[in-house]
Amino acid sequence: MLTSPSQPHTPSSERVTVKRLAARGVYDPEEIHGILDAGFICHVAFAVEGQPRVLPTAYVRVGDEVYLHGSPSNQMLRSLVASPEACVCVTHVDGLVLARSAFHHSINYRSVVLFGPAREVDDTERKLAALHALTNRIIPGRWNEVRTPNEAELKGTLVIAIRIAEASAKVRNAPPKDDEEDYALPVWAGVVPLSVVAAQPVRDPRLPPDIPQPAHVTAYLKNHEP
Ligand SMILES: Cc1cc2nc3c(=O)[nH]c(=O)nc-3n(C[C@H](O)[C@H](O)[C@H](O)COP(=O)(O)OP(=O)(O)OC[C@H]3O[C@@H](n4cnc5c(N)ncnc54)[C@H](O)[C@@H]3O)c2cc1C
Repeated sequence: MLTSPSQPHTPSSERVTVKRLAARGVYDPEEIHGILDAGFICHVAFAVEGQPRVLPTAYVRVGDEVYLHGSPSNQMLRSLVASPEACVCVTHVDGLVLARSAFHHSINYRSVVLFGPAREVDDTERKLAALHALTNRIIPGRWNEVRTPNEAELKGTLVIAIRIAEASAKVRNAPPKDDEEDYALPVWAGVVPLSVVAAQPVRDPRLPPDIPQPAHVTAYLKNHEP
């Protein structure tokens, strides 16, 4: 289990202990959840016949679980359910850190690595709730405006839940850290912040002209202005 807020925020085991630049390690469940909730694409590690694989996929966190979905024949999802544990990583790149020396160039980031057992969500209500959360995680408010999955679509969708048994975050949010003697060099240094911004939506060519842009799309644009 993740350490509860009343306990000190220390790693729950050796395998989730950040070793290199350990001061960047974060074990506060609220901070870890915040980093997970700031994204919707993760990278999932799994093994196929003993060979390592990593694949990107969409996710949503609900409570102490992360939900993934896909085709019932999806090899990644099937192998996660068949394995004792899953390992998932989420990364946000917040800035390019340009130092005075090539060696000290870096990246400002927030990332999470989590471990836990995966199970198939086969209860229809829970499956729908997971798909609802997944859709609204990508763009809040979407689920209530679209046709919800019918029986065949639900049957054709595998949903799995990975319990966040253990997790760590690593965060860098700072200016460049140069060698003391390099601060005298006449080289520009600083951070180029990066963020996800939305451009103007492109209407589907088959959309009747009398259907206006919905409020949730306008709100999304406002929240993702350059
Ligand atoms: C955008 C980005 C770019 C990076 N670029 C580099 C790079 O170029 N070179 C480099 O050496 N490192 C880079 N890192 C850091 C890298 O992810 C590892 O933290 C680093 O390789 C050293 O890890 P370690 O030896 O302490 O961890 P390990 O001993 O390999 O891992 C132990 C445990 O620490 C935790 N952990 C380690 N790293 C992270 C992390 N990033 N987020 C959350 N938990 C973590 C996990 O629970 C892991 O199981 C980058 C990270 C990010 C997010």
